[in-house]
Amino acid sequence: MGLLSLGTPLPWDRARLLASDVRRRGIEQFLHIWRNMKDRQKDRLLWGDEIEYMLLALDRQRRHARLSLRGHELLGRLQIEEAEWLARAGDAPARPELEALWRPEFGRFMIEGTPGHPYGSGVHDLTTVEANMRRRREIVTSQLKGDEMILSVGSYPMLGSRDFVEPPHKADGPFSQSLFLPDEAINPHPRFRTLAGNIRERRGSKVAINVPVFHDVNTPRPFVDPTIPYGRSLFPGDGEAKAGAARADHVYMDAMGFGMGCCCLQITLQAPNVDQARRLYDQLATVGAAMMALSASSPVFRGYLADIDCRWNVIAAAVDDRTPEERGERPLAKDRFVIPKSRYGTIDTFLGSSDGHFRSEYNDLELVYDADIYRHLVGSGVDELMARHVAHLFIRDPLVIFEELLEQDDAASADHFENIQSTNWQNVRFKPPPPNSPIGWRVEFRPLEVQVTDFENAAFSVFTVLLARALLAFEDISLYIPVTKMDINMERAHRRDAVLRERFFFRRGDAGADDVAELTANEIFNGTAGFVGLVPIVEMYLDSIDAEPAVRARLAPYLSFIRGRADGSVMTAAAWIRNFVQGHPAYQFDSVVPDEVNYDLVTALDDIAAGRRAAPELLGPGAAAH
Ligand code: ADP
Ligand code: MG
Ligand code: MG
Ligand code: MG
Ligand code: MG
Repeated sequence: MGLLSLGTPLPWDRARLLASDVRRRGIEQFLHIWRNMKDRQKDRLLWGDEIEYMLLALDRQRRHARLSLRGHELLGRLQIEEAEWLARAGDAPARPELEALWRPEFGRFMIEGTPGHPYGSGVHDLTTVEANMRRRREIVTSQLKGDEMILSVGSYPMLGSRDFVEPPHKADGPFSQSLFLPDEAINPHPRFRTLAGNIRERRGSKVAINVPVFHDVNTPRPFVDPTIPYGRSLFPGDGEAKAGAARADHVYMDAMGFGMGCCCLQITLQAPNVDQARRLYDQLATVGAAMMALSASSPVFRGYLADIDCRWNVIAAAVDDRTPEERGERPLAKDRFVIPKSRYGTIDTFLGSSDGHFRSEYNDLELVYDADIYRHLVGSGVDELMARHVAHLFIRDPLVIFEELLEQDDAASADHFENIQSTNWQNVRFKPPPPNSPIGWRVEFRPLEVQVTDFENAAFSVFTVLLARALLAFEDISLYIPVTKMDINMERAHRRDAVLRERFFFRRGDAGADDVAELTANEIFNGTAGFVGLVPIVEMYLDSIDAEPAVRARLAPYLSFIRGRADGSVMTAAAWIRNFVQGHPAYQFDSVVPDEVNYDLVTALDDIAAGRRAAPELLGPGAAAH
């Protein structure tokens, strides 16, 4: 998300009355963009990453770490430089003087950092990524108080557990109405609490997130969480936990903040034109699950060891605003569609491109889409696959409408379009150019979990960019699998140690045959009979562009790290954290992560991130020399 709209967000009972209007105008805005920008050519292969961090406050005496609500204040300081620059230069797209840009996130304890300007298309730029990520960490760290640290992992282990925020607040806020999360933990910009409140109101109940608990030797069976305040009667939804929302043998969570309070690593890539962006969108979508499994860093939720390693499904459930009718629990009466998935999830339809690989069988899901919008788009000259995609995004309601932004020029603004687009959180996002801007067609790769160190974050970013470049360069490669297989892959990718134990539907395409097989992560990344492997594809690409030996030497540790994650010689952060907890003397083998274990864990992770503690088991042998 870029700069936030300021103003007054409408409560749900008013916003819902304006939903069709926003959709209609959003489609007109998309059509303006489509007509003006569809023939753009030769845009540069710019790209950039986004890294999310959490701010922690440490009580060193009591060995207690908490999420610090000072994150928002810190963000304000970090943004001063940009604000001053903007005041001098106006809103120019290039900001060459800034090393980093800082953006708000859902949690008041969160900060998002991106490079100050996108990276260029030269392969040499890839050697500067890690340094920029280190600089970002340094810039934030320089603003910290002595008892603070930042942490980059998918899920903060203690989010929603006991007194996990600093300063302390009770969970009694009207927006989340959570049994565990205080509204004070939400970013104070009105957009965020309105999102939380409107999702809950649209759904007609609190969201219900259930993560399977990891059954350790002393974990009771069934596991019924004794820390849930079943008897509270502050809000009408307080009885939901007892009425079945909280499932046995699961860790139950009941608010948007449990999902959007997780951190991730995202990569946005510009393509030369819309057709190439469509190719990237389709091809990158299919590798998302395996990539997520390699990047797993979320094994603990709400103070319990979980039987999953990744955050994705937690966010999907955390923003699931579907009504009972839309979820198929009641016959359709008031609502328009039965919708199988949350607005956060894997994509449901491919876009196709001129590479000739797409076949309609790959779109094997009966797509839910707005037929009127579809007809209007097709009637306005948009091709069928693109129209399906947009008409599918637009089955959703706008969740936050700012009163001040209702009036806008649909030829010059994309605000209504972005309202729906930016709250469809999928594994890849197709980003059209903003109106009247020099920015081109982009694809955002979204499934990756954020990594503990800058080396790992750089490795995943560099690998993703090189894979994307290879896919653009080698048009004969097709990684298409039926779209429904992606959902299965994503489920599997969550499971504990998925990278070692699961198989993923993947297309072996060496012989040009339409041969979808179930492959291990090792086979996908390092190769197997009938499939050369994603890392070798990247190496072939580097050969094909004659990358300088010095550049290749700089990139080699990243590629061997990816190979190591895939073959199991390097462990995921999820596995590392799990081992740390289970090996801690204060852990009782009952799935409960005590505060002092969490304290030792986060300080150990901080030591690794700062290079004070070697962790070859997590980073591989290449990181130290880097
Ligand atoms: P969002 O939160 O909507 O995904 P952000 O603006 O936070 O978007 O981050 C997007 C990323 O895209 C940043 O890393 C930024 O450097 C990068 N970026 C900016 N302009 C371009 C461009 N023209 N092409 C590709 N990437 C870009
Ligand atoms: Mg962002
Ligand atoms: Mg973000
Ligand atoms: Mg309060
Ligand atoms: Mg993003």
